Amino acid sequence: MPRDYGRARLLRPVREPRELAGIGTDIHGRPQWLAPRAARAFFRLKGAAGDDGIDLQVVSAFRSAEYQLGILERKLQRGQTIDEILRVSAAPGYSEHHSGRVVDLTTPGYAALEEEFEQSPAFAWLARRAREFGFALSYPRGNPHGIAYEPWHWCWHAGRRRDATRPARS
Ligand SMILES: [Zn+2]
Repeated sequence: MPRDYGRARLLRPVREPRELAGIGTDIHGRPQWLAPRAARAFFRLKGAAGDDGIDLQVVSAFRSAEYQLGILERKLQRGQTIDEILRVSAAPGYSEHHSGRVVDLTTPGYAALEEEFEQSPAFAWLARRAREFGFALSYPRGNPHGIAYEPWHWCWHAGRRRDATRPARS
């Protein structure tokens, strides 16, 4: 791993949550988890999308640093260079997925973790409504972290909920 990785990418080590809550299964039928508050926010997001006829499916949610290391090792074994890998995957310890606040989303008819998700009605819905539920895109085009554009990667931020229809609770 490059020694100046965190500094060069403007990324900080990400701490794993103390508790996790189930959010159902991903598109491969594997159980997925988020930190409890992010999980509740995710259920609200998914429910509101469903009310609008949008089917949000989970590709990936919480991942431990150890799991991230396994991903990198598999890619190295397949012959990718560390530079190539770090363009699309965060270094172990630095992935936002360790926080338990991130979901990678897809919707039927679109390939998971591909830029084409941007063309989906689900992405259009997220772009319009996700912030009401506290979710924001982490890696838009041209992000300062040198991470490829990820229209599927949405992070929940405590206190960033913007509800357009109801006044904020004081
Ligand atoms: Zn992601």
